[in-house]
Amino acid sequence: MKKVMAVNAGSSSLKFQLLLMPEETVIVEGIVERIGFEDAGFTIKYQGQKEKKVLPVADHGEAVKIVLDTLISKGIVKSLEEISGVGHRVLHCGDRYADSVIIDDEVIDVIDSVSDLGPLHNPANLIGIKAFMKALPGVIEVAVFDTSFHLTMPEEAYMYAVPYSWYEKYGVRRYGFHGTSHRYVSHEAARFLGKPIEDLRIITVHLGNGCSLAAVKNGKVVDTSMGLTPLEGLPMGTRSGSIDPAIIGFIADKEGLTAQEVINKLNYESGYLGISGISSDARDLRKAVEEENHHLANLAIQIQNKRIVDYIASYYVYMGGADAIVFTAGIGERSPETREEVCERLKEALGVEIDKQKNIETWGIEGEISTPNSKIKVLVIPTNEELLIARDVVRLAKTQGK
Ligand code: ADP
Repeated sequence: MKKVMAVNAGSSSLKFQLLLMPEETVIVEGIVERIGFEDAGFTIKYQGQKEKKVLPVADHGEAVKIVLDTLISKGIVKSLEEISGVGHRVLHCGDRYADSVIIDDEVIDVIDSVSDLGPLHNPANLIGIKAFMKALPGVIEVAVFDTSFHLTMPEEAYMYAVPYSWYEKYGVRRYGFHGTSHRYVSHEAARFLGKPIEDLRIITVHLGNGCSLAAVKNGKVVDTSMGLTPLEGLPMGTRSGSIDPAIIGFIADKEGLTAQEVINKLNYESGYLGISGISSDARDLRKAVEEENHHLANLAIQIQNKRIVDYIASYYVYMGGADAIVFTAGIGERSPETREEVCERLKEALGVEIDKQKNIETWGIEGEISTPNSKIKVLVIPTNEELLIARDVVRLAKTQGK
C-alpha cells in the first residue's frame, strides 16, 4: 500500500492529488491558485468536504509547503514519509523520452533545454519538481510528459514540409500533446472492449478547453492533431487550431502587430471565443444556441464539429479502418449534443450509428453509446491523467526495487 502524489504545476497554480495505490483511490485533492499574490487561493477536497482559504503564497516552494503542512495538520498523513512517490505532469520533453522517467539531473536538464518549445509550462513544471524534491528528499520523483505517447508517430506524420534545417537546428516538428490522456483512454478502451490494445485501431477524441485527437494503431500513436505547439489542429475554447499560416503576416500588416502578437490572438482570442464573441466555454455556447438561436455560437460549434470529423475520417483511412472512437474530457464526457452531431456526420460514409438514449444517459461516465449495428464502436471514457501519473510512479518505482 503506497501513497502517491500526482502533481500538475502551472505558471501560477499547483494542482495535486494524493492517491492510495494500488487501490487507485483518491485520498485528497486540491489546488493552490494565484501563486505569487497576496490573495492566493488554496482549495482542498477531503472526505467529501471542500474547503477554500485565501492567503498569501509567494512562490511554488511555499505552495508545496502549504500543501504538505495541511496533509499533516489534518491528519491525512502522520508523517511525510508516508508519501512514497511523486509524479509530475510535464508538458514537453522534445523527442527525448518515449515513456515517463525517474527524475535525475539529466532529466531536469532536458526539461529545461526544451523550455522554448513550452515556454508557459516547462519552467513552471520544473519549479514544481524542484519544490517537491526539496520538501521530500529521497522520495522517487517521476516526470510524465504530455508529448511522450506521440513519439511513435512515423516521420511522414511528424515532419512538416518546411526547410529540413529547421528540424535539425531547432527541433521544428509535430510533437502532439494531451499524450497522458490519449494513452489513458486508449488503454481503458481496450480494457472495456476486452481486447488487447495491440489488436485495435482506436481514434481518441479529447475535447476539453484544449482539444486534440490521436490515431492509436495497435497501441501506438500514428498521428495526432496538435503539432509543434498545442495551437495546431482543432479549433478550441480560445485557440484557432490549424489555419493558413499566411494569415499571420496578413493580419500583422493590417493591424500593425508583430507575428507574436497575432499568434497570441490565435491562442487566446480565437476558437469558440473568437467566432461566437460570447465565451470560450461550450456550455455558454450551447445555452446561447438554445435560448437565442445564436448564429455565431452555433457556427463556432459546427466549425469544430466539421474539423473533428475531418480528422476522424483521415485517421480512419490512415489506419485502414477503426475499431473504436473514444470521446473524453469536459465536452467529450458531458456533451451528448457534440457526440451526436459528430457521429451523425460519420453515419453515411463510415456506418457509425449511436443509440441516442444511451448517448444521453452516458454523462460523465464510462460507456458504449453505439448501436450493435454500428460499424465502429463509439465509447465515452472519462480521462484520468492523475491516475495514470500515479500508476507510472508505482511502475517505475518497482524498477528500482521500491
Ligand atoms: P481542461 O482542458 O481545462 O482540462 P475540461 O476537460 O474540464 O478542460 O473541459 C472544459 C470544457 O468542457 C469547457 O468547454 C466546458 O464548457 C466543457 N463542458 C463541461 N461540462 C459540460 C457540459 N455539461 N456540457 C457541455 N460542455 C461541457
